[in-house]
Amino acid sequence: MKSERMKKVTVIGAGTMGNGIAHVFAQSGFSVSLVDISQDLLTKALSTIAKNLDRMVSKGSITNEAKDQTLGNISPYTILADGVKDSELVVEAATENIDLKFRIFRDLDQLCPANVILATNTSSISITRIAAQTNRPDKVIGMHFMNPVPVMKLVEVIRGYATSDETVKTVLELSKQLGKIPTEVNDYPGFVANRILMPMINEAIYSLFEGVAGVEEIDTVMKLGMAHPMGPLQLADFIGLDVCLSILNVMYDGFKNPKYAPCPLLVNMVIAGHLGVKSGKGFYEYTAGSKELKVAEQFRQ
Ligand code: NAD
Repeated sequence: MKSERMKKVTVIGAGTMGNGIAHVFAQSGFSVSLVDISQDLLTKALSTIAKNLDRMVSKGSITNEAKDQTLGNISPYTILADGVKDSELVVEAATENIDLKFRIFRDLDQLCPANVILATNTSSISITRIAAQTNRPDKVIGMHFMNPVPVMKLVEVIRGYATSDETVKTVLELSKQLGKIPTEVNDYPGFVANRILMPMINEAIYSLFEGVAGVEEIDTVMKLGMAHPMGPLQLADFIGLDVCLSILNVMYDGFKNPKYAPCPLLVNMVIAGHLGVKSGKGFYEYTAGSKELKVAEQFRQ
């Protein structure tokens, strides 16, 4: 299959990542079927995409016409079999749950013709294991977009153990057609992005846990000293502390190396439900409508 001829794609999951992925494909002229489990979730996703496009219109980076065209390129579906009809590529961005993803890939393998590439946006699940659920492991690949998808340039393209060169080439070309910069990596726990990011976040949490410095001090060192746009503790709050813990556990289990063991403070915070921005409290406290960054009570000195 030649990627330049690809016209129709399906995105599964219309959450944070799925709506962004649908947005960039639609903006690049692809016809996109967006699939989720309820009409409400799809309506919410379409309104998020419309809001994000409005912001681009007001900044002058796209025209009103381009906005309408982009929205017109997206069709919502709640039934997978309808949503994958005539698609040449599927990008799965459903909830990070291994059993769910295995089930979706078994279903996709039944529903899609043998030449269709099945990509996953998973942050941490082995591409090789997902591919093994199908009869086309050569056509299964990781397409790891970064959040927020319309803004972030990188796509980490992950080659599973059985992924073919042709599939990799098609997905690299396709990512470029979306205006992204793809980077090819192999399928080992955490791939590259999280393998480097998560130990840094974990070490920042250890520094706090061991009393080396406070929350603001740790983040300031990394922001001003390393020119990071956001400190590692604030970034962890944004990603979600439960997500960080789960990725660290995948690396710890996958490599059996204690250097990936999650800091006990991170484990405790997740058990207590202090998950960062999404729960209103992590290393910082978050109040709806306020942009002020306030260190969480537990960490005030
Ligand atoms: P999310 O919870 O915001 O969205 C997941 C969506 O999947 C939900 O709308 C849910 O209803 C839907 N879903 C669940 N089961 C489904 C099914 N059977 N069919 C169709 N849709 C279904 O999650 P997210 O943050 O968008 O993450 C999605 C994927 O992207 C995960 O694999 C995650 O690891 C990965 N990822 C997330 C980020 C991030 O920063 N959030 C970054 C990179 C990769």
